Amino acid sequence: MSEMHGVLPARRASRLAMVAKVGVGGTAPIVIQSMTNTDTEDVFATSMQVAQLARAGSELVRITVNTREAAAAVPKIRERLAQMNVDVPLIGDFHFNGHKLLAEHPACAEALAKLRINPGNVGKGAKRDEQFAQLIEIACRFDKPIRIGVNWGSLDQSLLARIMDENAKRPEPKDATEIMREAMVTSALESAARAEQLGLAGDHIVLSCKVSGVQDLIAIYRELAARCDYPLHLGLTEAGMGSKGIVASTAALSVLLQEGIGDTIRVSLTPEPNGDRTREVIVAQEILQTMGLRAFTPLVAACPGCGRTTSTVFQELAQDIQDHVRARMPEWRLARVGVENMTLAVMGCVVNGPGESKHASIGISLPGTGEAPVAPVYVDGERVITLRGANIAAEFRQIVDDYVKKTYPERQSH
Ligand code: SF4
Repeated sequence: MSEMHGVLPARRASRLAMVAKVGVGGTAPIVIQSMTNTDTEDVFATSMQVAQLARAGSELVRITVNTREAAAAVPKIRERLAQMNVDVPLIGDFHFNGHKLLAEHPACAEALAKLRINPGNVGKGAKRDEQFAQLIEIACRFDKPIRIGVNWGSLDQSLLARIMDENAKRPEPKDATEIMREAMVTSALESAARAEQLGLAGDHIVLSCKVSGVQDLIAIYRELAARCDYPLHLGLTEAGMGSKGIVASTAALSVLLQEGIGDTIRVSLTPEPNGDRTREVIVAQEILQTMGLRAFTPLVAACPGCGRTTSTVFQELAQDIQDHVRARMPEWRLARVGVENMTLAVMGCVVNGPGESKHASIGISLPGTGEAPVAPVYVDGERVITLRGANIAAEFRQIVDDYVKKTYPERQSH
């Protein structure tokens, strides 16, 4: 194994909430979620994207339910997914009119595995409590867990005003950042307490408090984790595009996961125009896997290259083998036990090549500039063959395929 994880962090003790057949919290593995960006009214487009996200590894998929037509589409989406053999639990995302939509469309409530409610967008004044109670009554009636998802972009303004008033009376008032953090945590905890008073079981509640600042997110979740035992859904909201979104999400989530905080995660990436929505699922998997918390797919270690390697051969081979493994993984995952733990190394020269390759399940050390044009291959630490010539990529792929067949037993149920 090229990854040396040592002792993994102990998970914070949280209750277990079941979302359909998926456990969130307790000792269940940390669950990956994603969200569609299709118009939910478009049954075909939404079903297709849910299926793509699920096949990429999303274990829960959230869809927005914002109109009557969207609510009416939800059971049809569920049906179409069943026709495609996709049984991923669907979470309905409700804002402003959720109480009405769910009351008018019981089949929508029935088809969803969980409801996401934003306490800042449930209603204003007296209506807030009434509409929140209606949502909880529906969750109880249909036996659905809820996520109370606070977002700083839609923080409950009356609660914020109350906390600011209380703060002003303190001998040493807290600053605006601390007040915002306190308001978010309070909104989540008070809403959860209210939901329980209204009859929703504590093991039907998941909390989240999403912000877009890394330090804010870490501080808020530490506080939330210290003050309750509900399962926590982690995610940096509006993380952004490209590397910025990935880095910010990884920085924030890694610190919390390392402290044992977080039972389910989402990486909220803004896709490039026409970009692939499944990217956020792969990034979430890579965060959990590189931290040693879960294994999803064989990881390819590759050196960054330097002045000792002046060709692009090893970069091309690393990409080729990563693509090959990703393409084969859906079939391998079903057929072979433990294949996700395989590690691969593609190295650029003799300096670290043989050493790193020996630590991987399978490694190849390509020739650097001026080295003999041969590529030794190591399997479980032993040098087994030396590749040369124009077919190195195809031969290496074959070695990987043979290794999978030989090393990981077939699943009995397959
Ligand atoms: S393994 Fe060789 S080519 Fe790769 S970074 Fe190290 S010295 Fe450079």
